[in-house]
Amino acid sequence: MLLLICPVCGAEGDETDFQYGGEAHIARPASSTPEAVSEADQYAYLHVRANPKGLHHEQWLCARGCGKWFNATRDTVTMEFKAFYKMGEKPPRTPRTRSAKP
Ligand SMILES: [Zn+2]
Repeated sequence: MLLLICPVCGAEGDETDFQYGGEAHIARPASSTPEAVSEADQYAYLHVRANPKGLHHEQWLCARGCGKWFNATRDTVTMEFKAFYKMGEKPPRTPRTRSAKP
């Protein structure tokens, strides 16, 4: 069971009280003219996601609380959350618990 805390309203609960929203901090290809974005950049934006062994930044929705999205940092090996932070904030500096190499 995952234990989460919403950084917006303070609601606590398990993963059934929240909704997973995928990887956080994915930047949309920057361009004022969409036709200037390469197919490779658009494909990466839509489909390529990290699958790290270790710390992973994720989006979660406070489904049974305030209804706001927030970010969390979770260790994918231990399933332990290391940090919760609001949208628009940078992830807090957290020590790496595992090497990214296999
Ligand atoms: Zn909340």
